[in-house]
Amino acid sequence: MITAFDILLIGAVILIMLAGFAWRRMLWRKGREENRSGDLTGLAGYLIGQQLILKRRFAGVAHLFLFWGIVVFLLVIILAQFPMIIPATAARILSLGLEILGAVMLAGIIFFIIRRRQFKYISADKISPQKVLFPIIILMIILITGFLAAGTRMSIVPSDKLWVSPIGWGLSNILPGSPLLMQIMIRCHFLAVLLFLACLPFTFMRHLAAGTLNVYYRRKGNRGKLRVADLDDGYVGAKTVDDFTWKQLLDVEACVSCGRCAENCPALISGKPLSPRKIVQDISWQMEQARSNGSWLADAISGEEIWSCTTCMACVEHCPIFVEPLDKIIDIRRYQVLGCGNLPPEAKTMIRDLEIFGDVQGKGVAHRTDWALGREVSLLFDRNRATDILLWIGCSGAFHPRYRETSRSMVKLLHAGGVDFAILGKHELCCGDPARRLGEERLFQELARKNIKRFNQYRFQKIVTLCPHCFNTLKNEYPDFGGEYQVMHATEFVLDLIKAKRITPKYPVGQALSVHDPCYLGRINQIFEPIRDVCRAVPGIEIRELPRNREYGFCCGGGGGRMWLHESLGRHINQIRAEEAAKAGAELVGTACPYCLTMLEDGIAALEREKPPKVMDVVEIVASSLGAEF
Ligand code: SF4
Ligand code: SF4
Repeated sequence: MITAFDILLIGAVILIMLAGFAWRRMLWRKGREENRSGDLTGLAGYLIGQQLILKRRFAGVAHLFLFWGIVVFLLVIILAQFPMIIPATAARILSLGLEILGAVMLAGIIFFIIRRRQFKYISADKISPQKVLFPIIILMIILITGFLAAGTRMSIVPSDKLWVSPIGWGLSNILPGSPLLMQIMIRCHFLAVLLFLACLPFTFMRHLAAGTLNVYYRRKGNRGKLRVADLDDGYVGAKTVDDFTWKQLLDVEACVSCGRCAENCPALISGKPLSPRKIVQDISWQMEQARSNGSWLADAISGEEIWSCTTCMACVEHCPIFVEPLDKIIDIRRYQVLGCGNLPPEAKTMIRDLEIFGDVQGKGVAHRTDWALGREVSLLFDRNRATDILLWIGCSGAFHPRYRETSRSMVKLLHAGGVDFAILGKHELCCGDPARRLGEERLFQELARKNIKRFNQYRFQKIVTLCPHCFNTLKNEYPDFGGEYQVMHATEFVLDLIKAKRITPKYPVGQALSVHDPCYLGRINQIFEPIRDVCRAVPGIEIRELPRNREYGFCCGGGGGRMWLHESLGRHINQIRAEEAAKAGAELVGTACPYCLTMLEDGIAALEREKPPKVMDVVEIVASSLGAEF
């Protein structure tokens, strides 16, 4: 029987809960403005299916039952406040259903408690899992007291419909028929429900609201695109939490500290002092504290952490509620570079070369076509007609001694396929990806605008490029600066040539091949199959997948400007990947990125094996299978 005091208590709890959520909303809403529209259909699909959460089978199923259990019980509690008549049979079935749901939820809670206790810390990732236990234990108390109340009631008033409450019946056999005990259980159950509701905004359970909102406002379209920094507006990156947008702060509010980002982070796995989960939790802590004490992000997040990131996006891919640790890291890098001039010394030479020469090697535009000498490659500015394909070479393809071979192989394939193509030659500058990922947004925007100006001077149907970093930048980032083009990665283009029978690989490359998915092609742009299909088209190749493949692919360690930074902390990421390839028994590692190619070659060389696997770009593999006549 509900008393007036109970009603007062319920009112107070609702007030506390609403005040708590209003306070939390004020914290993240104070971020800078950002245009985001919600997606109700996407949210509904996510809540019903929970596919991202279900990527982890056991934890996902446990979460599914807990989520729906809480929703159903809250609905039942609300509906029970309205007078309604339910037919006896329906009421019994409902009672049985709730009991089964309660039992499954209890199993899920026990699973989570065991899992959290077994949580392995890796290196920098020292967030205490206990912080999330409090609301889970309250939830457990709610369920247990509910069962005990049902059991005591059945031992006082035995029922002939035992199937309606099988757990209650089981407990009634051991519980005394004590009305006092039943009252105590009911009160404990009631108070625990109130405590759970009152605590919702103040514990990690607030993700029920914040996570839902984060899914609703999640990024649409390609996620390989970095946020444009409005430099004209005086923005120089994130010095304090106030420099993040409200959506970035909603991200950290939604984080449940599950650690999936950390478990897949190559920097953390290789022993570097970076954990994406810690970054998000540090920002969350500062969001609560910093406004009163004016802390800088750099007080909590060290330079070693932010410069360890390879921008591989594994953290973004694996976060079950669309939190993006990477965009915070980039904004902190931006402040270090644009606001403080704190670029790591090793990267300074590369950035200076970009500023002066327009390429990462510092060779200059006059040498952009040296690789193509004697290869019948036409220059777009030399011809006064349009071209079908603008072959974007990129700095590595033009200057890196090893990757120049891949550029030449690509030219061989294009000639063999009778493709009308041309290059920009001295009119091509670096796409700007290394500068942007290192936080040098000003230089990136300058390069992007210059390249777009050049593109707009010529007529071509599509751009094809070998480098996934150039591909991502031209395809996904240049549109923000007015440059919208049809851009294809070389693997997709070569696959089309093979499918159209314009080229036919015929000489066998009889080797066990493992595919190394470049992060910027695979995980970031979701292009996984063309690289495999191209390899399958080559006679004699047997694909032997690496244990970490496709969206779980492990980074080579070269992205995010890391190609130009010393790897002095932890293990070398490229050597970890090289070991995986060697263990998989690969004789050949096929990839499709200049960074991956050179990083893996270096990693494999460091293994000092008698018969090391060879690393080739898939374009080179196809070219070698065409034979010498082309
Ligand atoms: S982008 Fe990659 S390296 Fe950077 S924090 Fe995320 S998982 Fe780690
Ligand atoms: S950022 Fe996402 S994946 Fe990482 S701990 Fe938070 S919720 Fe989990």
